[in-house]
Amino acid sequence: MRSAEDELAEIDKSGLRRQLRILESPQSPVVMIDGREMINFSSNDYLGIANSSVLKKAFVEGIEKFGVGSGASRLISGTHAPHRDFERGLAEFKRTEAALFFGSGYATATGAIPAVVGKNDIVILDKLCHASLIDGAKLSGATMRIFPHNDLAKLESHLRWAHEQIGNGDGRILILTESVFSMDGDVAPLIEIVELKKEHDALLLVDEAHAFGVFGPDGRGYAAELGLDSDIDFQMGTLSKAAGLSGGYLCASKSWIDLIINRARSFIYSTAPPPALAAAASASLKLIYSSDGDVLRDQLRANIRRFSEIAESAIIPKIIGENDATLAVAKQLHDKGYLVPAIRFPTVPRGTARLRITLSATHSAEQIESLKNELTGLIC
Ligand SMILES: *Cc1c(COP(=O)(O)O)cnc(C)c1O
Repeated sequence: MRSAEDELAEIDKSGLRRQLRILESPQSPVVMIDGREMINFSSNDYLGIANSSVLKKAFVEGIEKFGVGSGASRLISGTHAPHRDFERGLAEFKRTEAALFFGSGYATATGAIPAVVGKNDIVILDKLCHASLIDGAKLSGATMRIFPHNDLAKLESHLRWAHEQIGNGDGRILILTESVFSMDGDVAPLIEIVELKKEHDALLLVDEAHAFGVFGPDGRGYAAELGLDSDIDFQMGTLSKAAGLSGGYLCASKSWIDLIINRARSFIYSTAPPPALAAAASASLKLIYSSDGDVLRDQLRANIRRFSEIAESAIIPKIIGENDATLAVAKQLHDKGYLVPAIRFPTVPRGTARLRITLSATHSAEQIESLKNELTGLIC
């Protein structure tokens, strides 16, 4: 039997070993690591609100009122008034009939997808979909078909194939994609995907993890920016990125949400998130759609433009290729006081290791200019 040490040595040899990094400060543009201040370009706290007084206050007030633990799963006695209030508020904000709050975005995908499709159904997904969507699809037992990133022709041919398989039976076809892709920062051609899903009578789930709070009117997301919200069956996302907290959500029709409450194992068999977190989530939602939220989104957009003329989002990848070379550049940046993660397989395809720079509304112009200057010296 091979030992854990042998396996770790192999991981080391391929330049794929990962280690935890301990932050001794709150999440913000400047963080403390090993007693040293670092400029942080690795956080998904796009609006810079994870350490905001508004959210901290709402969280603390939630704790004062509802304690720290939820006590049980949502279907037993773990659902408290703040959970319901957040779900109502989110559904109204997203203009869907209903919404459901999960412990994480990962739990949302791995719970909801197998609740919607099973072994007699077909899931068609973009090659660059996040691991949570892939794992949800695998767990469902449905037949999986993958299309190259944003390749509409291939998506259409998979849809035709899926119809031949399913015939006139009651099988479902579910398309999975992201609106803003997590490791490339580019966007999906959602208008065309919606046309295809309608034409081929398929369901569509869009993961707005990196768009919620950032894109669209009032930060409603990229689907809303394109005016597509009512054409998408399932809009999922997370509260762990622009919303500055943690937890995941799914927005859909009332019937789908009721079915998912009855079927999603990650929802049924896991203790409810603390009610105080749900209270903070409502405060985050309010901040996102307020004029303060608009100001933060403007600042974020200005920071993105300052860094790059062509970036489509706050995620800016610098693809280097080999693992060791990428780690070396990340280390040089680290030595100069910049926290920029090296992203490697299996998070991204082999041979496409990269630096993943994420920008926040609260980065200063100087912080962004200085990283830009350092990068021009290190990679051409
Ligand atoms: C981060 C992320 C998730 C998972 O959300 P968590 O709340 O962190 O579990 C799901 N999908 C995408 C695209 C993500 O980037």
